[in-house]
Amino acid sequence: MLAETRALPAQTVTIDEALHRMLAADIRATGDVPPFPCSAMDGYALLAGPSGRRLRITGESRAGVPSGHALGDGEAIRVSTGAAIPPGADAVIPQEDVDLDDGAGDVIVTAQDSPAGAHVRGAGEDMRAGTIVLRAGRRLGPLQLGAAVAAGAGTVQAAARPRVAVLCTGDELRAPGEPLGPGEIHNSNAPMLTGLSRDAGAETGPAGRLPDDRQATIDGIGAAIDASDVVIITGGVSVGPHDHVKPALSALHVRELFWSVALQPGKPTWFGVAGDGTLVFGLPGNPVSAVVTFSLFVAPALAAMQGAPAPAPPHPTARLGTEVPRNPRREQAVRVSLGDGPGGVTALPTGAQGSHILSSLLAADALGMIPMGEGVVAAGDEITLRALAR
Ligand code: AMP
Ligand code: MG
Repeated sequence: MLAETRALPAQTVTIDEALHRMLAADIRATGDVPPFPCSAMDGYALLAGPSGRRLRITGESRAGVPSGHALGDGEAIRVSTGAAIPPGADAVIPQEDVDLDDGAGDVIVTAQDSPAGAHVRGAGEDMRAGTIVLRAGRRLGPLQLGAAVAAGAGTVQAAARPRVAVLCTGDELRAPGEPLGPGEIHNSNAPMLTGLSRDAGAETGPAGRLPDDRQATIDGIGAAIDASDVVIITGGVSVGPHDHVKPALSALHVRELFWSVALQPGKPTWFGVAGDGTLVFGLPGNPVSAVVTFSLFVAPALAAMQGAPAPAPPHPTARLGTEVPRNPRREQAVRVSLGDGPGGVTALPTGAQGSHILSSLLAADALGMIPMGEGVVAAGDEITLRALAR
């Protein structure tokens, strides 16, 4: 699947637009940070020397307003935190380490020794001009943006956001809050998959809804392919008489890469590529199956389109807190909560694991992978964890 996934081009974006975008080029410090030697304390800039000196205050250096003149012999210059160290000075004595000789009001007596460099923040102590501060391929959170701005960045190179279309199939689906007629259910996949896509860096509009009708399915998917980089379809991808997604994809000449995965939940998952390179995912209709297959398939594809490295082993592990029966024909992705246990991190199933049980998604921290096979995985056995998009 990742082999069929192309990285989208980079764009120049302002810092304000960059939150949660994927960095597409390294960010280097444009200058030293801090840019100049400055005071770490409110106090006085002076020459290094012993306590007991009488020094005349001859000026002030404030944050943003450096002193107009250099330090002379027997002098001190008042400094605030972050203010530039005046030329000639090489140390700062904090306010609380001097006595003010208030006879004249402009003389201090040093009450402590001042070693060279005391309470002075060196230029470039945080970041040296030209060094790489952030590497391409990582997501820009608030802290990364702070570091980028400190490093001098006004804009950043960020990966374009994949345009994702979410299409939910099913005659039974009703919009949020709508009263339900006989046999109808609310479309819970729509907010989950649009939200998960956005959280994964994508641009999405409102989810579309497709009736269980062959031509409507062809038209809806065709339009979505034209307008998007990724199309996520839920439901209608099995082999029932009202499952129109596979025939529609075939009619639209979307090249099938796989259909049917040895995974529970998520068996009918379909993946293919349209003629224009659009990735098409057919996810099962059951809400938990849709979330699990989004986590395992769609999320890594969206990340790869934004230049993130593929998720590679070793994956995190945990010890099962309780025995779980294995499935002879499919690997299981079990909703688990994680906590501290005797052997390290312990994973506990969060409740009923049916693919329609949304409530047991709520307490889940991750997917615990149970290898296919006979018997059980015992309490205390180690299992692999996969990220649950949530
Ligand atoms: P399907 O894959 O279309 O056979 O759907 C499998 C199950 O998932 C059925 O019980 C559907 O009613 C349910 N389902 C399908 N789509 C959605 C959706 N968007 N939201 C909630 N449940 C759905
Ligand atoms: Mg259906």
